[in-house]
Amino acid sequence: MVDFADNAEQAAFRKEVRATIQDRMPEILKARPDEAGERGGGWGRPTGARGEAMDVWRATLNEKGWVAPAWPKQYGGGDLDAVQQYVMNETFAEERAPKPRVPDVGSTIMVHGSDAQKQEFLPPMIAGTTNWCQGYSEPGSGSDLASLQTRAERDGDDFVVNGQKIWTSGAHVSNMIFMLVRTDPEAPKHRGITYLLSPMDVPGITVRPLVQMHDAAEFNETFFEDVRVPVSNAVGEINRGWYVGATHLDFERSSIGQAVGQLQMLDSLKNFLIEERDSGNGRSRLNEPDAPRGEFADRYIEANVAKTLSQRVISMQGRGLIPNYEASMTKLFSTEFRQRIARTATKLLGRYGDLRDREYETSPQRGRWATMYLSSVSATLAGGTSEIQRNVIATRGLGLPRG
Ligand SMILES: Cc1cc2nc3c(=O)[nH]c(=O)nc-3n(C[C@H](O)[C@H](O)[C@H](O)COP(=O)(O)OP(=O)(O)OC[C@H]3O[C@@H](n4cnc5c(N)ncnc54)[C@H](O)[C@@H]3O)c2cc1C
Repeated sequence: MVDFADNAEQAAFRKEVRATIQDRMPEILKARPDEAGERGGGWGRPTGARGEAMDVWRATLNEKGWVAPAWPKQYGGGDLDAVQQYVMNETFAEERAPKPRVPDVGSTIMVHGSDAQKQEFLPPMIAGTTNWCQGYSEPGSGSDLASLQTRAERDGDDFVVNGQKIWTSGAHVSNMIFMLVRTDPEAPKHRGITYLLSPMDVPGITVRPLVQMHDAAEFNETFFEDVRVPVSNAVGEINRGWYVGATHLDFERSSIGQAVGQLQMLDSLKNFLIEERDSGNGRSRLNEPDAPRGEFADRYIEANVAKTLSQRVISMQGRGLIPNYEASMTKLFSTEFRQRIARTATKLLGRYGDLRDREYETSPQRGRWATMYLSSVSATLAGGTSEIQRNVIATRGLGLPRG
C-alpha cells in the first residue's frame, strides 16, 4: 500500500520548516509580488525593499543549508534526503513563501565537474552572487540541438568562441552563462560538442532582448565575437559535452513544472470564484447552468497526478538516480496542465477572464489568469517542446523505435 503520510521525523521536519517561514520570513514577502502591486515572476533579484528582504531571507535559509537542500554540506547545501526536499517544497508552496534556489547548472557541475570547478562555482550560487543563463538554442538549432554551430577554437589555454545563441532566458540580468559549443567540427554532430562556462562581462558578448506576447522581455539573442574562455572552464571531457548537457536538461525538466504550487493555485481560484459569486458582481460563472464545473474538478484530479509524477522524480533523485524519461513525463504533463488551468479559469471568469491589466480594478486577481493564459504557452516549448518530450518517453521510456 502506498502511504503518503509523514513519519514522525518527517512531521517534525515539516513543523520546523513551517515555523521558520512563519517566524523568520520578512513581512513584505508574505504578499505575492502581484498582490503587492509589483511585477511577479521575471528574472533576477527583485529591486527595492523586496530585494533587500529576499537577501535577508536567503541568509536565514542559508544558515540551515536550505537554498541548496540536495547538495552536500561541504558545498553549503543541506544534505537533505529526497522526501525532506519534497516536504520542504510543499510547505513553502502552502505558505506561499518565495524560495531562493540554486540553478540546475550547479547540480550538473556536482555530477560532471572537477573539484576545482565545484569550489569555484558552487558557493557563489548559494550566496546568490551569480546569476546564470543557458546558451543552448541557436537560430537553426532548437529541437535538433546537436546541429549547433557556435564554434570554440582552442588557442593556448583558452577557447575562442564565435557564434550566436537565441532564446537566452535572463541573459540581460546574468553574470554567468553555461553553453554548448562545437569544439570539433569534423566529428559526428553529437561528439564534437563541449559544455563551457563563461562570465558574461567579458569582451565580445552582446545581448539583445526579445519581447514576448504578454509584454515581458525575459529572453534574448546572445552574440559571441572572439570571446576568450579558459579551457579549464569546460565541464566534463572536451568533445563529450553533449552528455553533460543532457544531464542538465534532465535536472531542468525535473523541476520545470513546479507541481506542488498548482493545488494552491486552484484553491486560490476556487475561493475567489465563491467570494465573487456571493457578492453577485458578475465575475464568477459558478452558478450559471453551463459553467464548466466538471472541468474544474478535472483540474483538481490532474493537480494530484502532477504531484504524484513529481514525487516519482524526487524519489529517484533521492536514490542517486538522474530521472530521464520520468523527468520528461513530469515536464510534459505539468506544463500542458498549466495551460488547461488557465483555460478553465478564464472560462469560469466569463467575460472578465480576458482582463489582464493588473491595475484595472475589475481584472480578476490582478489579471493573473489572462496573463497565465498567454505566458503558459511558452512553458511547453522551453526546455524542449512537448513533441520532443513525447519522443523521449516513446523511445527511452517505452523502447519504441525512432521515427
Ligand atoms: C520561454 C522560453 C524560454 C527559453 N529559454 C531558453 C534558454 O534560456 N536557453 C536556450 O538555449 N533556449 C531557451 N529556449 C529555447 C527552447 O529550448 C526552444 O525553443 C525549443 O527547444 C524548441 O526549439 P525551436 O524554437 O528552435 O523550435 P523547432 O525545433 O524549430 O521546432 C518547431 C516545431 O517542430 C516540432 N519538432 C521539431 N523536431 C521534432 C521532432 N523530431 N519530432 C516531433 N516534432 C518536432 C517542435 O515540437 C515544434 O513544435 C526557451 C524557449 C522558451 C519558449
